[in-house]
Amino acid sequence: MCGIVGYIGSRPAAPLLLDALKRLEYRGYDSAGIVTLTDKFNVKKDSGKIAEIDSRLDLADLPGTCGLGHTRWATHGKPSQRNAHPHVDSFGRVAVVHNGIIENYLEIKQELKKRGFTFRSDTDTEVIPNLISFYLSRKLSPEQAVRRALSQLEGSFALGILIRDNPDKLIAARKESPLIVGLGKNEMFIASDIPAILPYTKRVIVMHDEDLAVLFSRALIIRNLKSWRRTVRKPTLVKWTLEMAEKGGYPHFTIKEIYEQPAAIRETLRSSPAEISRLAALLLRSKRFYMVACGTSYHAALVGKYALAKLADYQSEVVISSEFQESCRASAGTTVLAITQSGETADTLKAVRVAKASGAKIACLTNVIGSSITRESDVVCHTHAGPEISVVATKTFAAQVAFLLRLAIETARCKRTITSSQARQLMVELQELPKVVERVLRSTERPVRELAQKLKDVEHIYLISRGIGYPTVLEGALKLKEITYIHSEALPAGELKHGTLALIEPGTAVIALIPPGDARSRMIGNVEEVKARGAWVIGLTDADADVGAHVDWLITLPRTRELFSPLLYITPLQLLAYHTTVLRGQDPDRPRSLAKSVTVE
Ligand code: GLU
Repeated sequence: MCGIVGYIGSRPAAPLLLDALKRLEYRGYDSAGIVTLTDKFNVKKDSGKIAEIDSRLDLADLPGTCGLGHTRWATHGKPSQRNAHPHVDSFGRVAVVHNGIIENYLEIKQELKKRGFTFRSDTDTEVIPNLISFYLSRKLSPEQAVRRALSQLEGSFALGILIRDNPDKLIAARKESPLIVGLGKNEMFIASDIPAILPYTKRVIVMHDEDLAVLFSRALIIRNLKSWRRTVRKPTLVKWTLEMAEKGGYPHFTIKEIYEQPAAIRETLRSSPAEISRLAALLLRSKRFYMVACGTSYHAALVGKYALAKLADYQSEVVISSEFQESCRASAGTTVLAITQSGETADTLKAVRVAKASGAKIACLTNVIGSSITRESDVVCHTHAGPEISVVATKTFAAQVAFLLRLAIETARCKRTITSSQARQLMVELQELPKVVERVLRSTERPVRELAQKLKDVEHIYLISRGIGYPTVLEGALKLKEITYIHSEALPAGELKHGTLALIEPGTAVIALIPPGDARSRMIGNVEEVKARGAWVIGLTDADADVGAHVDWLITLPRTRELFSPLLYITPLQLLAYHTTVLRGQDPDRPRSLAKSVTVE
């Protein structure tokens, strides 16, 4: 995946484009280049890393206040200077940066060659500036020339286009590949994603498929490439600031993000009721509903499954993404909801493609606007947790759970398994939860630190619960494993006697999550079961449960509904993982062998 940036305004374009390109580096690339427009195109490009190219060519040293930048991931023609973008047509009229693949480029190239156009690269991209140039020579306006050229292309593209004789405009277009427009003060930007332009503007329009945008420094016109109808899109105010991505006084991103959970829940609940309604309607139209996810997102999906079953009497299947193609069948009438923080998780993208090929409808829930999963999806939903820097997911779990609880309430309301006034009441209580989570953070921080002292040297921790508490302990165990490196195993408490009980011996640490609900008395029975084998039991419950006599260490949480308990009960488990890690002298922000976004299968 490569990156595109573009600028039109009154500042020198090249230094700004270089800076924006550096912020796209994480996407992976093999070459980079910049073009600016004065009375002609000024191009610097090469293969290699931006820093190396820059030290050789001084990329920022190009005149002009309008330009395009590109990082390339080759699809046609090996990485080299001549294949690097930008590409300019044979007559120096049009410059283009392109992300994507043009499938029919060979035919177009043949045609253009017959008409006197010459080619310098092996790329598919080079036909684009030449084709536009051809239509310009036929006296079409720049917009119409671009439109005619793009109508001939088969494949995918995100494009930044400059026309030599029209230096007051920058043209952008997309089909399948992502592209955003950033609106500044008397200046405009294009980029493949938001971080590239975040220091310059927070007002962003995500371009839709088949959009053509004409950017002037003070105006923007968006049209549909086919119908040529003009559309007016309101910019979204991106709430992500660069400062938000700094640690803000906390010693680690991990703890900072644990403390950002109330805000993540609040923002997610506040935003996008339309996304929830569309998704609920899709669920109710579906014959079969899968949620596919990995790791933390899988645990959030399991909470969603419980909530949908309990509230809406709606059956769903939750499948680990990498297992989807092994065990599941999709067809028309199937809906797959892919849950992925980054929107780039390779296993989840694969599951979605497999399901799509069998006719399934795809929905997604992601924290990253415009990420790959959104381009695969019929219904796109977002969590609004802000950027998560820490490798271990914390606030994005809270945001995913909040979204899925809200989805369950809406589905139940539409299905009439609850009345509208019950739904309203549940929403009021759900919206109160950020405040309750804040209380939990304040009240459990101290006892959890003390508990971490006791647990920092143990070899094994077992976590047990029942019902909706089960995905919560699964997530708690994952946090412990990921950063403390202590073997932590979660299981439904009823399963103990089917095997794992054999591992419980005097002193074994067992965390028992005892949320409210029907299962509470059975959970207390399971606590007795492990106590009888000498386990050292930590109980997490509320003041209504009289478990003090049964456990060795008690953490008391505020009262809540069973359904909402994951959002409260996960917090002390996250804190425990964090403090234990710090006490063991390890860095929670950099767990060994793990990556934030797993983009390989
Ligand atoms: N297909 C084009 C090339 O090979 C663009 C690749 C990209 O997306 O970077 O140059």
